[in-house]
Parts: sequence; C-alpha cells; structure tokens
Amino acid sequence: MASRKKKKKYDDERMHFLRALALVILVVGFVFSAIMSVYAFVKTKEIVQHPDIYRKQRDYKCSDETVDQELVATGTRQLLTPSMELLDKSRNRWSGELNNNPNFKKSNPYEPELPAGYRNVSVGSASGNFLHDKFNHSLQIFANIPDGTDGQAGWYMDYFGADSTKQYIFKTSYILNQAKSTIIAEEVDSGGNIKYTDLVLLEPTKNKDKVDKTILFVPLPSTVKMRFYSQLTSMGSMNIFEESVHSIDGMGLAEPLITVSFDDGWSSVHTAAKPILDELKIKTTQSIIADSFRSLLSGYMNLGEVKQFEKEGHEIASHSIRHCNLARLSNENLEYDIKASKLLLESEFGSIRGLAYPYGSYNQHVEDVAKTEYDYIRTTMTGYNGLLMDRHELRSITINPEMTMDEFRSMIDLAIKNHLWVNIIYHKVGEAPDVYGITPAALREQLTYLKTKSVRIVTTSHAVDIISKQQNERFGKFLP
Ligand SMILES: [Zn+2]
Repeated sequence: MASRKKKKKYDDERMHFLRALALVILVVGFVFSAIMSVYAFVKTKEIVQHPDIYRKQRDYKCSDETVDQELVATGTRQLLTPSMELLDKSRNRWSGELNNNPNFKKSNPYEPELPAGYRNVSVGSASGNFLHDKFNHSLQIFANIPDGTDGQAGWYMDYFGADSTKQYIFKTSYILNQAKSTIIAEEVDSGGNIKYTDLVLLEPTKNKDKVDKTILFVPLPSTVKMRFYSQLTSMGSMNIFEESVHSIDGMGLAEPLITVSFDDGWSSVHTAAKPILDELKIKTTQSIIADSFRSLLSGYMNLGEVKQFEKEGHEIASHSIRHCNLARLSNENLEYDIKASKLLLESEFGSIRGLAYPYGSYNQHVEDVAKTEYDYIRTTMTGYNGLLMDRHELRSITINPEMTMDEFRSMIDLAIKNHLWVNIIYHKVGEAPDVYGITPAALREQLTYLKTKSVRIVTTSHAVDIISKQQNERFGKFLP
C-alpha cells in the first residue's frame, strides 16, 4: 500500500512538472511571438510611413544607364579642400604675402607688357598677346590656340621659398572669356629637379563677373621652392586681378589618420579582402549600394555578408540606391535617391552617416541636396584632409592597379609626415584584370605597410569625429 501511495505521489509530481513545463513553453512561445509581431509591426510601419519610397523604388531607374564603369578620380594628391569658414578663421596663422607683386601694382621697366615679378610663356602652337594694365591693376592675355592643336599660353610668378611641412593657399581673382585656364604648381627640390602639377581647370566665367578661386596645396616632402602658373589651354582671353600666395602653419592634425574604404560592396570584398582585414585587424568603411543586397543586382555581397561587416565593427556608408550618376538625375529623382538611400540602408543597418558619390560625380546642387540628409560626404577628388577639412567635400585617394608600391608608400608617408588624414579607396579584389581591381597579394602588401606605421587606422565617420573635435578646439564651436 505504502509503495502504491508513494508511486501515486510520484506520478502527481511528474504531472505537475509536465504541466508547469507546458505552461513555461506556452508562455515563452507567446512572449516570443509577441516580440516577433511587434518587430513585424515596426517593420511594416516603417514601410507604411514611407509608402512613396517603397512604391517608387520598384520602378526607379538611373537617367543614363550607359555611364561606363570607369573610375572617376580627379585632381592631384597634393590638394586639400578647405572649409571656407575655417580658412577665414585661420587668418591669424597665415604668413605674409609670398608673391612679391600680388596685385600687379609694380611695373616691369624692361618689359612694360609684364608686371614686375612675372614672366610669360607660350607652349606648342599657342601664342599670346600680353597686356599689363597698371592703372586698373590687372593682367590680360589674348591667347591664340587654333582648334585641334596643342598649346598653352600664360604667365608665371617669381619663385618663393617653400617649407614642405606647411600648407599653401593660392588665391586668384579672374575673368575668363571663352578660354579655359589651368593653374599649375611648379616645385623644385634641392637638386634642382622640377615637377609640374596641374591643380585646377578653370572654366569660362558666366556673365563676365569676376570669380575668386582658392586652392589649398601641400608641397612634396622634397620641395624647397615653388611658384604658380596660370595658363590658357584654349582660345580666348583672361584677366587676372590678383594672384595671392600665403603659407599656413599648424593646419595638420594632432596625429595622422588613415581610413581604408571599399566602394560598391563587391562580393570579392567579403571573400578575398575580409580574411586579410581580419588578420591585420583593420576596420573599414563599406560604401554600399542600397539595392545591391536586395537581389536586384548581381556580383555584390548579400545582406548577411554586409551585416557581418557591420557586426564586426566596420562602418556601413551609403553609395546611393542604384549607383546612378547623381549629377544626371532629375531634381525629383535626385531628392528621392538621397533620402531613400539612407532610409533603405537604415532599415537594415544602424544609422548611416556618410555618402560616397557613385562615379565620384556631383555638382553644387547635388552637394546641397546631399548635405540635407548626410552628415558627411566623401568624394573621389584626389587628395588629403587636414584640420581645415570640409566634411561635405572629403577628399580620398583611389587605389588603381597601376599604383606601384613605391607610390603607395610615398602617398602614405606624406600623410604621416604632414599629419593629414588619407582615406584610401578600393573596389574589387581578385586576380582578374579590372580597372577597379587589386590582387589579394597587392592588397595584403599595401595594408601590411599601413600596419608597420604607428598610425591610427579608423573608419571614415570616426575620422570625421576626431577632426571635428580638433576643429572645435582650435576655432571655437563650429559644427553642431
Ligand atoms: Zn561605385
């Protein structure tokens, strides 16, 4: 009897336990499904909140599908884009005028058509008529360069001594009539070797209004003296009213910074680059095309692969919705792309702060619209970023397969020496020859070089934050 009673008690306990277990499973299941419903609701709400975006996305097309996949990297490494506001605030650190006749007020007694301190030059089939109007303080040239021929006509100033640890500001005030003009830097090292660099191409001026152009330039480490040229490259005329040069000290960062970025989100970034990045412990910025992982485009990382990058501490940035050339979109589509690319990416990833222009293509209007949604914008204008950085016109250096290891090293070394931030951009990684490509071996060699330098490697948004903080410390509260 006793044992049967005991057995019954045991059965009761077991039933209790099973009931409790069932209840727990039921409750857990309920809670889980409740969470999933809330999650699904939030997701749906996100879509419901932006119905226009999701509806429009289905039939959104680029204006011009024929844009070829050519790299659009423009300019020279030696240029920086200054924020004009900060440049103005930095005036107390500018040197005196380095051009000894910036306003063309001094005359040249031996050659009255030229102001003191200036020489003229004609190259190739170009010839120029030079005039010095010393009463109105301007220089004028009529360049004759027959169509279809090569040639340049212009003038250059006297040399000034250069200190390669400083940055240089060149300002020109001009009117260009029909002609285009190039600003050229001539740098000379202690051995007398000369290097010419085309800095900017100036377009004909509209309405014949005077235009001011400011260039921020960093000399090569070996440069001891330099000067600037203004050269017309097509038929027409140019008036210059001022050519002013100043050096500016202390515009490097507290320490140099390097960013490693990958554009487009190719699948090879996950298969071929990621093992190298993991091994070297480098966190990158991945500029992702919002449509690429939605199975709408092929050859790109899938959602899980991009999420893995994000989870492991890499930054996800926007590379637009569908890699359209933003400068060619209608205004309506441009505004849609800028807004929706951010929303679409943020529905999968954390907050998206940056935009990289597809093909590097943009104009002032594109920038104005992009600024309203994105905290920073990275261009493919070649160059470095320093303390005067403009966060909406960040420069970068695109790595192409022709870049030698020596060139890569000197590019990095200059950033380190001058305390600048360099954001290097890769695309595909693989053995196949491709204008975008780099072999895994070359990638490993380049990234390993970075690791041998005691320099911080940070994501783009991290670099922007570090530099903004230094800007605020130096110039007072500048950005929100
Ligand atoms: Zn791209």
